[in-house]
Parts: sequence; structure tokens; C-alpha cells
Amino acid sequence: LMQSYDVVIIGAGAAGMMCAVETAKRGRSVLILDHAAAPGEKIRISGGGRCNFTNIHASPKNFISRNPHFCISALSRYTQRDFIALVERHGIAYHEKTLGQLFCDGSARQIIDMLVSEMRGRGAELVLSTRVEAIGRTEEGFELALSTGSVSCQSLVVACGGKSIPKMGATGFGYELAERFGLAVVETRPALVPLTFDAKTLERLSPLAGNAVDAEIACGKTRFSEAMLFTHRGVSGPSILQISSYWREGDEIRIAMLPGTDVAELIRAARRGNGRQGVQTVLANHLPKRLAQAIAERTGLDGNLADLSEAQIKAVEAAVNDWRIKPAGSEGYRTAEVTLGGVDTNGLDQKTMQAKLVPGLFFIGEVVDVTGWLGGYNFQWAWSSGWAAGQAC
Ligand code: FAD
Repeated sequence: LMQSYDVVIIGAGAAGMMCAVETAKRGRSVLILDHAAAPGEKIRISGGGRCNFTNIHASPKNFISRNPHFCISALSRYTQRDFIALVERHGIAYHEKTLGQLFCDGSARQIIDMLVSEMRGRGAELVLSTRVEAIGRTEEGFELALSTGSVSCQSLVVACGGKSIPKMGATGFGYELAERFGLAVVETRPALVPLTFDAKTLERLSPLAGNAVDAEIACGKTRFSEAMLFTHRGVSGPSILQISSYWREGDEIRIAMLPGTDVAELIRAARRGNGRQGVQTVLANHLPKRLAQAIAERTGLDGNLADLSEAQIKAVEAAVNDWRIKPAGSEGYRTAEVTLGGVDTNGLDQKTMQAKLVPGLFFIGEVVDVTGWLGGYNFQWAWSSGWAAGQAC
């Protein structure tokens, strides 16, 4: 190892590698190190192995942060279009899956290979299987004691991600480092994570396993319209993952299984047509049959439409479009895609990601209190924030 670098980046993930490329482009000497044996392990497993690397529609409103304005600068200076252009320059084929989500046609490894080859081409030095044992401040910058020796640098970029998937080596290292340098950390919690349900709720839900609906799921004032799946562990799917980032212990979530449909009017119209059919028959024209049946049974209204009072029709409507369940918890960091919270953006410069009170110290990617929705937004934040720091460190 060379002893002294202009810039050292801790974490060879999405944000760190992007930052290394941009920093090296400016002619700065860069060391990027990781305790893992391979770079970009989360990229490799992302998007079911195809990496949902960005979203065509990415904009600041797709991100959660105590300061929702913080992400605007980086996202607008390095946009999804910039990253798509990079992907295209490397000849990586991709497609839109749904809702603007872009995936590799081939494999997520192509994104890792692209970043590694960009780093190599620009002369950034990548060192793996290396632990940071201590970090100290010097007059010129920072000094790091590594498991393989010691290095010094002017700028130190912290890109070591969040706490999700500890099995892959995720730790709270970046948050601890921030606190040690006097930066505030917004409370962290697992996000984009499967929710769990108590035994009583599960008993009702598990017979429906295998069914899927295009639901609208709400928690407080936030709502998402995406697929919801019934599984043996309750309900899951993209809409549940999305709402998990907003859900807090004790909250109930509200589910509309036929969003935008006036269910009461649907039933009245069916009754005018034929009053001798059951509620489940009408609902089964719009929902999976087993689900329609379960709703009729749950409301106890499985008789003929002709016998339904207006209040009972309203009860069916509520069961379909205002179904409330109270999750018991979440599966936690073990399966969470991201970590909510992180380094408080108040302590960072939005243009450069530099700590306001510690010149030369930068935080990028998931370790920062900026968390994207499901759909390629988290990688876009990693690219944009990594790029922004790469122009300044
Ligand atoms: P990471 O990519 O996590 O990189 C951090 C790096 O730092 C790692 O290489 C780690 O080994 C290293 N590190 C950590 N601690 C230390 C230490 N103490 N010393 C040295 N190195 C350290 N987002 C999307 O936008 N689209 C998707 O399709 C998608 N799919 C996902 C699927 C799964 C299963 C998971 C878990 C996440 C997914 N995400 C997805 C989220 C996305 O992976 C992260 O938001 C993104 O990787 C964050 O980038 P980062 O560079 O900040 O952190």
C-alpha cells in the first residue's frame, strides 16, 4: 500500500465506487477499501440478481429524510439519465420492468464490472478484505490504522452503507464513526422490510396464500398502489415493502383491494341485475375467487344480494376497500433492503456531502439519512451522492 492518498473511501459498494471513479477522474489519488472479499456485494444480490439500478421517474419526492430538501442538489446534478448513459456506454442491455424501474437484461454483475473497470481505468486503487481499526485526525487530514498497515489522506469518504443484511457484513460502523466526529445520527430502523403479523391475523390470512391483488395500501397519509401478495406469513409484496418504510409500531395499515372502484355501487348494480346471487359471486368478478369468498364470510354477508341492507352493502365495501390490519412488527435488518435514518443531513453540505464541522470528512449513500422507495431509488441516491462527493473530495 502507498502510505498517503489524497482520498480514502471506506466501503466499495454502490456509492463508494461511484465516488472513487469521479474522484480519480479529477486526478486525485484514491484508495477505496472494503472489509468484504468482493466489491459491490449488495449490487450483486439486488433486484433478484438483475439490479434495479435506477428509476426513470426518480425525483426528490421518492426519498424519506428528516430534511426532504437535502437530496435535491445531488439528485439534480447527477440524474438517472446520467447513470443510464454510463450503463449504455458500457453496452449493458436493460429493460423497464414496471413503474419506471430499470433492470439489467443479464446480471447485476455487469454493474459491478462496469464500476470496477471505470475505477481501474482511472487509477483508483481497490483493496479488499481490509478492516479499519482506528481513525485519527491529523493536521493534513486523517490517519487510518488498517488490518494491513496504515494510510493517511486529506479527505475521508464514509460509504459503508446501512445495517441491513448483517449476514453480508453490514454493521453500524458508519454511524459510530459519524458520532465519534460529533455528527448527529437520526435514529435508524429497518425499511423496505416484510411486516409480520400476530397468530390470530395469520390464521385469517394464511388460507389465502397464493393470491395477489393490485392494492392501494395506506399508512397515515402515505399510500402506495402496487401488488400485494397473500402468503403463509401474512401479506407481502412491493406495496407492503413500500409502506413498511412509513409504518411504526402500533399503526394499522389500510388496504383497498379494488382501489378506485365504487364497491357499493358495484353491488347495487349487480343486485338490480339479479338479486339472487351472493356477494362472493359479484366480488369474484373483480377479485380472486378465494379472496371474494373470504370477504363474504368475514362480513357474515354471504346470503343473497336482495337481502342486503344499505348498511350491509357499506360493510362489504369497507371490507374490500378499507380493510384494516395491524402488523405486529417487521422482520428487521435480517431481511430489510435498506436502513431508514442515518447521518443527520443538517450536519452535511448538500452539494458536496462534506461534514460542516469536519472539513475533509464526507458521508455518501445509505449511511446518510436519505432513504429511497422501492424501485431503484436507493441506488440512484448512491450514484448521485457518490458523484457529488467525487467532485469535491
Ligand atoms: P453498500 O452498497 O451496502 O456498500 C457498503 C460497503 O461498505 C459494502 O461493500 C460493505 O462491505 C462495506 N463496509 C461496511 N462496513 C465496513 C467497514 N467497517 N469497513 C470496510 N468496509 C465496510 N436498491 C435499489 O435501488 N435497487 C435494487 O434493486 C435493490 N435491491 C436490493 C436487494 C437487497 C436484497 C438489498 C439488501 C438491498 C437492495 N437495494 C436495492 C438497496 C441498495 O442495495 C442499497 O441502498 C445500496 O447498496 C447502498 O449503497 P451504499 O454504497 O451506500 O452501501
